[in-house]
Amino acid sequence: MEKKPFRPNPNGAKNSRRNFKNAGFIALLILIGAVIFSATNQPSQLRKIDFSEVVTQANAGNYKKISVSGGDLEITEKDKDTATLRSQKDPNSSITEDGVDLSKVAVEYDTSAEGGNVWAQLGIAILPVLLISVVLFIMLRSAQGQGNQAMSFGKSKARLYGNEKDKVTFKDIAGSDEAKQDLEEVVEFLKFPKKFESVGARIPKGVLLIGPPGTGKTMLARAVAGEANTPFFSISGSEFVEMFVGVGASRVRDLFAKAKKNAPCIIFVDEIDAVGRRRGSGMGGGHDEREQTLNQILVEMDGFEQGANVIVLAATNRADVLDPALLRPGRFDRRVNIGLPDRKDREAILKIHFAKKPLAKNVDLDALAAKSAGSSGADLSNIANEAAIIAARANRNEITQIDVTSAFEKVAIGPERKSKIMSDKEKELTAYHEAGHAIVGHVLPDSDMVHKVTIIPRGGTGGVTWFIPPEDKSYHSIIEYKDVLARMLGGRIAEEIKYGIDRVTTGAGSDLQKAAELAREMVINQGMGEKLRNQVFHVEEGMMIERMVHERQYSDETAKVIDDEVESLVTEAARRARIVIKSNLEKLEKLKEKLLEKETVEAEEVLEILKNAKMPKEAALY
Ligand code: ADP
Ligand code: MG
Ligand code: ZN
Repeated sequence: MEKKPFRPNPNGAKNSRRNFKNAGFIALLILIGAVIFSATNQPSQLRKIDFSEVVTQANAGNYKKISVSGGDLEITEKDKDTATLRSQKDPNSSITEDGVDLSKVAVEYDTSAEGGNVWAQLGIAILPVLLISVVLFIMLRSAQGQGNQAMSFGKSKARLYGNEKDKVTFKDIAGSDEAKQDLEEVVEFLKFPKKFESVGARIPKGVLLIGPPGTGKTMLARAVAGEANTPFFSISGSEFVEMFVGVGASRVRDLFAKAKKNAPCIIFVDEIDAVGRRRGSGMGGGHDEREQTLNQILVEMDGFEQGANVIVLAATNRADVLDPALLRPGRFDRRVNIGLPDRKDREAILKIHFAKKPLAKNVDLDALAAKSAGSSGADLSNIANEAAIIAARANRNEITQIDVTSAFEKVAIGPERKSKIMSDKEKELTAYHEAGHAIVGHVLPDSDMVHKVTIIPRGGTGGVTWFIPPEDKSYHSIIEYKDVLARMLGGRIAEEIKYGIDRVTTGAGSDLQKAAELAREMVINQGMGEKLRNQVFHVEEGMMIERMVHERQYSDETAKVIDDEVESLVTEAARRARIVIKSNLEKLEKLKEKLLEKETVEAEEVLEILKNAKMPKEAALY
C-alpha cells in the first residue's frame, strides 16, 4: 500500500471541526470587510471625478460648495442641495494653491474629524486592527496544525522530508537496478554540481520516472534525496488542482520558490499526469486550471538559472498522455523506466519486506517469487504484511508457509468468503464450471499450467481456477491468446454441455467480459485480427478523456470489421472449448467430483486427474 505521509484524515470529526472553523473564518472576514467598508468608504455613493476637473468646473462657476476634509473633497453642484460628487487632492497644499478661485465657489473646511466622539473614532481606528490580529492569530495557529486549506490555498502543500526518521536509500529498494543506476547520476549532480559544471555539462532539470503503480517510483525519488542528503519537497499532481481556480499555478510558484531557497534539493511531483496531460484537447473552459498549472511548471523549469541545483523528479504511470512540452530538452528530458519486477527482483523485494518479520525456516520465498509473476513491489509488500496479520490472528509467533500462501492468494484474488452459502445445486454447477476452465487450460498446448482449482467463493467470484505462467513473459503470441480465450470460455461451455444451452448462468459473466476485452485488445491494439492483421486502431487515451470530442479514427466500415473480428475470435474460442470438453467428459466428471469432495484441489491432484486428457485434432490451431 502506498504510504502517504502526513495526509490529514479527510473524514470524521476532524473534518467537521475544520468546516466549523472555516465557517468562523468566513464570518470573521465578512465582519471585517463590513467594518472597513463603513469606516472608510462612506462617500462612495458620490460619483468620483478628477481633481483637475474640479478646478475647471469650480472656476467656471458650476459648483455651489466644496467641503474639504484633509485630501478628500465633497462637492455640491450648483443646482443641488447635497453633495453629489467627490474627489481627492494633495492634502498638503491649500485649495487656492491648487488653483481654485474662491470667488466662484464656497469652500468649507471640515473639522469634524478632530471633534466628534473620541470613543467612536478610536473604535473605528482600532477595531479592524484588532479583528485582523485575531484572524492572523488563528491562522498562524492552524497553519501550525495540519494545513488549514481555506487560508493556505495559494501555498503549495509540499511536504518537506529530510529528517533521518523516514529517510530512504537505494539499499531499501530491491531490484530496479537500471533505474537506480540512472538515478545515481542525479545523486551525483546534487552532491557535486561543481564537478559537472567545470566541464560544461548541463545538469538535467527534470527526471521523469515512468512505471506501473506500486513499482516503487515514489520510493526511488525519496531514495535519491536520501542518498544525496538533500531536502525533498513532495507534492502530488492532484493537489495542484484542488478547490479553487488559479490555485494550481500559485502553488507551483510557491513550491519552486521554497525549493530554490533550500537548494540543493529535490522537488518531487507525484502523479504528474494529473496536471501534465496534453493541452488543448479540452472544449475550452473546464481545463484552464490544469493548463495554467502545467504552464506554470514549464515556466518555472525554464526559469531555473544554471546552477540553481534544484532537480525536479516526477512520477507517472501514464507517460503516453503527457504533454509533449513537458518532455522537451531542458524540462523532463531524462526518463527512467521502472518495470514490474522479474522473478529475481521479486524474491529480493520479498526478502526486504520479510526481513523484519519472524519467518519459519521452511518458508520458501523463492517459490512465492516464482508464482507471483505480474505482482508489483507494492503487492509483494502487501503479501508480507497480510502473512504477518494471518499469523498473528492464528496466535503464531512465526510466519509459516501456510500463512504466506494464503496471504498470496488473498492479495491475488481477494479473501475467501467461506460464509457465503451455496446450495448443493450451485456447488455442482460451480464445480463443473471450474473443471471446464481447468480442462480447457490443461489440454490446449499454449495455455499455462493449472495451479489450483477451488469452489470456495473468493472476492467476487463463485470459484477460481488458477493458472500460473511458467516464467515471466514480456510478449504473447496470437496462439497463446487464442488458448487463453478458449479457457476463459471453458467455464460457460462446461455449464452449457452439462445443463443445456438455455440453462447457463450468470456465473460466467465476468469470464465473458474478460474474454471480450482480450479479443478487442487483440484486434484493436495488437493487430491480431484475421482481416485486420498488423493494423492497430488505438485511440490516444489522452484524447479520450474528453469524451465529447472523442472521435474514432476509423470509418464505420472498419468499426464493423473490428466487431466482426472480435466476434469471430470469441466464437472460435467457444468452439474449441466445446470440442475439448466434449472429448474429455469423463475427466470433467472426475474433477467435478473431486471439487465437491475437497472444495480446493491443488496442482498435483489436478494433473493426476487430467493426466491422459485428449487433445482433439479439431481444436488444434496448427
Ligand atoms: P509507486 O510510487 O510506483 O506507485 P511506491 O513507491 O509508492 O510505488 O511503492 C509502494 C510500496 O511498495 C513501497 O512503500 C514499498 O514498500 C513497496 N515497494 C515497491 N517497490 C519496491 C522495491 N523495489 N523494493 C522494496 N519495496 C518496494
Ligand atoms: Mg507513487
Ligand atoms: Zn469462470
